[in-house]
Amino acid sequence: MWHNDEYEKRGAGRLDFAKTVTAGKKFRKKIAGVRRRMRELQKLAKALVSTRHPLLVHIIPIRRCNLACTYCNEFDDFSKPVPTEEMFRRIDRLGAMGTAAVTISGGEPLLHPDLDAIISRIRKNGMLAGMITNGYLLVADRIERLNRAGLEHLQISIDNVQPDDVSKKSLKVLDQKLGLLAEYAMFHVNINSVLGSGVKNPEDALKVAHRALELGFTSTVGILHDGNGQLEPLGTREREIFEEIMSLGKASFTRVNGFQHNIAAGRDNVWRCRAGSRYLYICEDGLVHYCSQQRGYPGIPLADYTAEQRQREFLTKKGCAPRCTVSCVHQISVVDRWRAPQRFDGGSPATSGSLVELTGPAARD
Ligand code: SF4
Ligand code: SF4
Repeated sequence: MWHNDEYEKRGAGRLDFAKTVTAGKKFRKKIAGVRRRMRELQKLAKALVSTRHPLLVHIIPIRRCNLACTYCNEFDDFSKPVPTEEMFRRIDRLGAMGTAAVTISGGEPLLHPDLDAIISRIRKNGMLAGMITNGYLLVADRIERLNRAGLEHLQISIDNVQPDDVSKKSLKVLDQKLGLLAEYAMFHVNINSVLGSGVKNPEDALKVAHRALELGFTSTVGILHDGNGQLEPLGTREREIFEEIMSLGKASFTRVNGFQHNIAAGRDNVWRCRAGSRYLYICEDGLVHYCSQQRGYPGIPLADYTAEQRQREFLTKKGCAPRCTVSCVHQISVVDRWRAPQRFDGGSPATSGSLVELTGPAARD
């Protein structure tokens, strides 16, 4: 059995994958990183000029997952992949809307047999291509294929150091995969750790964050609700760990806004959720939803979702906003923070008195 202490002891003897990366690979990685940042800056400039296109879309090519984390409400163990031609139609439609970035989520996207073609299609449409995965199916050759397909961002959420009955997304299991990513991936890698209700060992998040930075990745931290979807302030030690992770190493967008700090303290956030407009969640049936936690609103097929509907949602208040923890939607809202107060009342069921549960892969982005 591999206990946390053993993890520490083995640290010195562990193969340092980052050191095995050759100078040539490092150079290519650097060039890829510069190109990626240039493209991101172009997208940001366009986002500041116009409010009429989506900035980030999560799209689901398969609902099935090879794991079964007990907190997750975003997977099943039987769904078939969305047909590739249908995925292409959806991606082309997003391209025609002028979407800046598409993140492939699930379920487990690596279970889709044509994932590389889907990524390539996103890039052919001029959009940034990202993916959230549990990492279990990554091997060197699979990572190289993702490079060739044009993947630009990958996120893995690691829930603990040792697998337990809640989650098998553990550093013990995934550390070898992280080493392969450090060695082969030409794309940006972010490792997300978690704190909050249901996390048995908060110190694990710190170990995950340190390992991520050691391998040259960025790290973020998500905060979980309790089983009733209630947001609880973090305890003293958890707050200390949270602040330490937020201050670690490389800056990331998560660290330059106050959303996560308020969530950690159990405080409401005052912000304008632009879901349904600047952010879209496209489920496996091709319907547009506000986000993974507000599925069913507006619930319109992507093919029929018009610019007018997006503009109306841009100006629609979401009752669930004050206590929302969907950090990717927080982040993109910053671009429009200074403009367009929301004047329409929303139709989403959650009000400011009810809480939005953070579960599953997209919500952890
Ligand atoms: S959290 Fe991710 S890995 Fe876990 S069951 Fe859900 S989709 Fe699968
Ligand atoms: S849960 Fe969050 S992201 Fe989703 S619609 Fe509500 S406020 Fe927006």
